Amino acid sequence: VCQQLGKVKGKVLPILHAVQDICGNWLPLEALQLVAKELEIPYGYLYGVLTFYSMYSVTPRGRYIIRMCESAPCHVNGAENILEALKEELGVEVGGTTSDGLFTLELTACLGTCEVAPAMQINEVVFGNLTGAKVKEILDNYRAGKEVDYRTLARTTIKPLAYPLDQDNMVLFANLDRIDPMSLDDYRAKGGYEGLKKAVTSMSQVDAINEVKTAGVRGRGGAGFPAGLKWSFTQPSPIIPKYIVCNADEGEPGTIKDRYIMEGDPHRVLEGMALAGYAVGASHGYIYVRGEYYLSMLRLQNAIDQAMQNGCLGKNIFGSDFSFTIEVQSGGGAYVCGEETALIESIEGKRGNPRVKPPFPGQVGVWGKPSIVNNVETLSSIPMIISKGGEWYKAKGTEDATGTKIFQVVGHVNQPGVIEADLGMTVRELIDRYGGGIRGGKKFKACQTGGASFGFITEDQLDTPMEYKAMGAIEGALGSGTMLVMDEDTCIVDVVKCILYFFQHESCGFCLPCRRGTRILYDLICKIADGRGEEADLDKMIKVAQVMADSANCALAMSPIFFIKTTIERYRDDYLAHLNGTCPLCKK
Ligand code: SF4
Repeated sequence: VCQQLGKVKGKVLPILHAVQDICGNWLPLEALQLVAKELEIPYGYLYGVLTFYSMYSVTPRGRYIIRMCESAPCHVNGAENILEALKEELGVEVGGTTSDGLFTLELTACLGTCEVAPAMQINEVVFGNLTGAKVKEILDNYRAGKEVDYRTLARTTIKPLAYPLDQDNMVLFANLDRIDPMSLDDYRAKGGYEGLKKAVTSMSQVDAINEVKTAGVRGRGGAGFPAGLKWSFTQPSPIIPKYIVCNADEGEPGTIKDRYIMEGDPHRVLEGMALAGYAVGASHGYIYVRGEYYLSMLRLQNAIDQAMQNGCLGKNIFGSDFSFTIEVQSGGGAYVCGEETALIESIEGKRGNPRVKPPFPGQVGVWGKPSIVNNVETLSSIPMIISKGGEWYKAKGTEDATGTKIFQVVGHVNQPGVIEADLGMTVRELIDRYGGGIRGGKKFKACQTGGASFGFITEDQLDTPMEYKAMGAIEGALGSGTMLVMDEDTCIVDVVKCILYFFQHESCGFCLPCRRGTRILYDLICKIADGRGEEADLDKMIKVAQVMADSANCALAMSPIFFIKTTIERYRDDYLAHLNGTCPLCKK
């Protein structure tokens, strides 16, 4: 394995994944010692790396690993009941393996399949919209040897809820459900790689950057930093090599958009990366894909192979002086690796601890070299910007937030899923028109916008447009463009408890305020949820979250203040009901 993948430290994660597959879903000591020897790294170092990531195991596991999702979108859709059904059906607790050695039951922080919540993954395959009966049927099929092969899953079934825009004029979903994502010919027949051809044959690096600046596209991973500006800081650097890093570690609960692009139109991601590479003078790119996205990795790798064979990637692209290659790297199951410097550490084969900034990756990135880190959605916007022009893109959306965005509506709605729409559409329209309204004729109660890291908004804030300033003004967020919708039967304390569990689980532990703070917050919310809390605990939660936000090294510790503050202010009755031990929603 080491010889095949490369005897270098940067291959630690792919090597561990491959060895784990060979050894039957776990990493025996002898295998790890061999890997350490081959890579010439201390065994203790290797052990320290692998134990950072949740997808590796040093204890034996069954032939099939069942990962039950416990993120907030699955939680509000009854994941706990499904977990109980799994435990009963398998006869094991979480972490246990069935006596026949077939199944190991695990929990996972998020699977990135929130539109089919509640969901679980068996090895590479996701099963969604689970019920107790469905769980039994799936397990019976596996017991009977009818295992699903993810490589044979249908190629064109990934589609959005609707097309609010003319699909021919879309930026991201123009090809979705229209082309075979395994076919380069299909992509090229729709104008694919024309933007790259145009750039490398007729535009200077500065021209390309200026086009992106004109478009005004901002980072779609959640941070919202202008992409063209970011590129312009790195382009003049004489240091080579430079790298393009595509952040496909889509771990924010409720966020599923990048998977749609990678599974439905993988060449678009590659073209965007190559264009970024051309603009800043990079010769190599990494796509760091979250470990659970097996199908995305398969389709991206197929696209890379096709593009390399046909001159769309590789040496002297379209007869120009520009050469660019791309490799896929799988994550190991760590939310914090979505932070750009943690992701870089992980690419280098280390634990995914975020670095202290500055320096920023644009100056000191992968292997110490200048690196542009952009999200999948951001990079996938670039081909259309270059081929149709920055002004064409800028005409979409609003002045504050130009272009289109993929929105995700999940939770208690009739039609959970994704759409691409102009920025500026209101939250209400997204929920009612595209999400199909609240499920079961219930009333709306709350919506967490932007992802698990942000605030909760109320009914009277639903007419706010999804754009940076407007959402910021109501302490919501555009973030990753997700909306977790909750109906009137939802206990907000219960949801906050679920989210705080996530944050204390995912804190990398590098800095004290976050390491301890997330734990203190989780203990406090458990105390409140159990009816053992007092009103002073609410103030304590806000103070602890604020200290974390003020002293954080990365965005993870800055997040709890948003949803703690907004829920305590806007849904105080839910907290008080728990303090009084009388929450009707938790059916105590
Ligand atoms: Fe790690 Fe938290 Fe510090 Fe970020 S703030 S580096 S997640 S401990």
